[in-house]
Amino acid sequence: MQKINVKSGAKIDDYKAYGSLNSSVLDFIEKATQPIASLNGSTIWMINSTAIGGGVAEMLPSQMRILRELGVSIEWLVLDANDPNFFDLTKRIHNAIHGSGDGKFTETDREVFEATNTANLSDALELIKDGDIVVVHDPQPMPLAAMIKKQRNVAIVWRCHIGLEEDTAITDAVWNFLSPYTDDYDHFVFSLPSYVPKSLKEKTSIIPPAIDPLSHKNRALQLHKNVGILYQSGILDDHKAILYNRYNHLVRRVMPDGSFGSPNQHNSLHLIYRTFVTEISRWDRLKGFKELMQAFIKMKKDNREHGDPESLEYKRIKMTLLVLAGPDPAFVSDDPEGEAVLKELTAQYQSVDPEMQNDIAILLMPLDNPKENALIVNALQRSSTIIVQNSIQEGFGLTATEAMWKRKPVLVSGAAGLKFQVEHDKNGKINEDPTDIGKLAETLAYMLNHPKERDKWGFNGQLRVIQNFTLFSQLISWLEVLSAQKST
Ligand code: UDP
Repeated sequence: MQKINVKSGAKIDDYKAYGSLNSSVLDFIEKATQPIASLNGSTIWMINSTAIGGGVAEMLPSQMRILRELGVSIEWLVLDANDPNFFDLTKRIHNAIHGSGDGKFTETDREVFEATNTANLSDALELIKDGDIVVVHDPQPMPLAAMIKKQRNVAIVWRCHIGLEEDTAITDAVWNFLSPYTDDYDHFVFSLPSYVPKSLKEKTSIIPPAIDPLSHKNRALQLHKNVGILYQSGILDDHKAILYNRYNHLVRRVMPDGSFGSPNQHNSLHLIYRTFVTEISRWDRLKGFKELMQAFIKMKKDNREHGDPESLEYKRIKMTLLVLAGPDPAFVSDDPEGEAVLKELTAQYQSVDPEMQNDIAILLMPLDNPKENALIVNALQRSSTIIVQNSIQEGFGLTATEAMWKRKPVLVSGAAGLKFQVEHDKNGKINEDPTDIGKLAETLAYMLNHPKERDKWGFNGQLRVIQNFTLFSQLISWLEVLSAQKST
């Protein structure tokens, strides 16, 4: 078990200084006082399986910083694991909770699952004392609860960050496999109501994911900084950044011959001078990239064939670019599925005419430096005209939250997590079926041709995030859950 050292960062006063965040911070402090007082004497132990990468590792440091500033004792432990069979199993569990895979779990799997957790137990017991509260994140450390409880008088909460809206034979099988472990938990936290397995409903709270408005991915960027990041990362080529040099690793773009080149090598994107529609995600089939590209191509072709070249509508669509951005596979090991999806998108890109290819940029973002990656995502999102999340399935869709926070109009599918966040015609558009290419093309064209509505949607989106999906709304819910554990 590794105890993670959380570096210093934004303070409560830094958040309070933002006019738009001020009242939610004050509200949080007021509501937090009592639950924090009730936690006095207990340490909160967060346990997960990784210190870097993934939403949990991204959000924990800012949550912990805020709680610590208010006097809460909170620590973060990461499971030590080096058995490849353990990783294979936990990946299968993860997939099965999402409804994919074969749903087969054996007694050998159980032994593998428990062996890695048993190996971490003594470290945990050295630190955790009677009266503390433990929060176990996701399936990997799940068996630890029973083991810890045998020796310590503690409340243990299981925080599940994943889920599927419906019950299938596969989800039933995995929940069945996990049931001996869920029995040992005092409480559960899921992201959406529809993800909670029936058997756990009574002891569950819903806490949706949230963003940290001052993280590198979400903090405000002055125009020169925004453009500077686009230059530093290689996306812009025409004007050198004055203060800083280029990043060590640059963004690459899929070329018409299928190779990876620099973003402006084949044709100049003129990114900041054009409207552009962006989807940023992992290269996963469920993110709906393929369908989005098809819809963009259809919209452009319809415009070419039937539009009036003198009209503003025609020109708006003609000047629009599509940006599909995701991780550069050079920095991701062991993701054959992601590579296959990128290959499919590349083939799709190669099959369109050269004029269309100039209007589509499949961008590969380096991952060697998390801060730079976050700033690139931030700058791309802030420069976009519309942000799309066309997911076929989506746990939550933080990319939509991030976009709304940045006052960007969003176009999302009806996938559970997205529908939970986005209000149709208020923050953008919900296009229910991400595979309905005609409807998607039409919605995109409508959004591109209604700039004033886009402005309104952007403003409403930011308000929606401030009221429901920031660090502060999330921490209030967490404190309620934790203090309830203390009183039981
Ligand atoms: N993201 C990123 N770099 C990438 C692709 C995605 O930083 O190359 C980020 C994105 O900004 C978001 C997160 O990864 O914060 C993805 O979270 P989301 O809930 O949208 O989907 P998930 O990947 O968890 O399915």
